[in-house]
Amino acid sequence: MINRRQFIEATGATVVGAGVLSGSAAAAKEFEYRTPVFTTSDLSVREEPSTGATRVAVADERTGGRVFEGPETSDGYTWWKVQYSGDSDDGSVTGWSAENWLAEADFACPMTGEVTSTYWDTRDGGDRYHRAVDFSTGGGQYVHAAADGEVIYAGWASGYGRFVKVEHPGGWVTSYAHLAEFRCSQGDTVERGDLIGIEGDSGVGTGPHLHFEVRDTSGAKRRSYYDDGEEAVQGTGVPRSFY
Ligand SMILES: [Zn+2]
Repeated sequence: MINRRQFIEATGATVVGAGVLSGSAAAAKEFEYRTPVFTTSDLSVREEPSTGATRVAVADERTGGRVFEGPETSDGYTWWKVQYSGDSDDGSVTGWSAENWLAEADFACPMTGEVTSTYWDTRDGGDRYHRAVDFSTGGGQYVHAAADGEVIYAGWASGYGRFVKVEHPGGWVTSYAHLAEFRCSQGDTVERGDLIGIEGDSGVGTGPHLHFEVRDTSGAKRRSYYDDGEEAVQGTGVPRSFY
């Protein structure tokens, strides 16, 4: 068993290609506890690791989630228990899926919770756009670094309240706003999935939630990062279910 750091170094934390259905369960992917994944097709989510088990949901193509158990082999497939992120229509769902249609993502969803506002939502009667994704559980949820990087800011920012910025290799910066508490300091090196704060309602907001932004290092908010699902998945490994 290797630890997560060794695993990321060994894989380069790049997107692992979707498996091809072979009917063989011989080659399990090397997912670990909390590995961020996304679906490469509409995918059944089942109560148990078996094609005969009750299907609790169908995760749409490019739904993101994190692996919590596995692997198990059954009915010619290798299975992983995945906690899928909620989207605008559905809450979070957890169950077993066949790995053939699961791929590893570079970026992890920063928080488990309901998506309460998506990218490009209009504000102020259409005068302003929400160039971020909001997640909410009502407060107190753990907020995780979306990817490996360095904390380049952890402090107060006007409107954003308690605010963390993490710079990642490849020219990306992720931001986490309205935190109740910090769990990191400026200058810290973080790994994907590390706890960096607690969901809250500091700053100007509409109740407790995480406001999550992605920018490139020039500071521009990257519309394409959210809009082009294919590029987002293959280029940066961000599950499309972020929006
Ligand atoms: Zn927001």
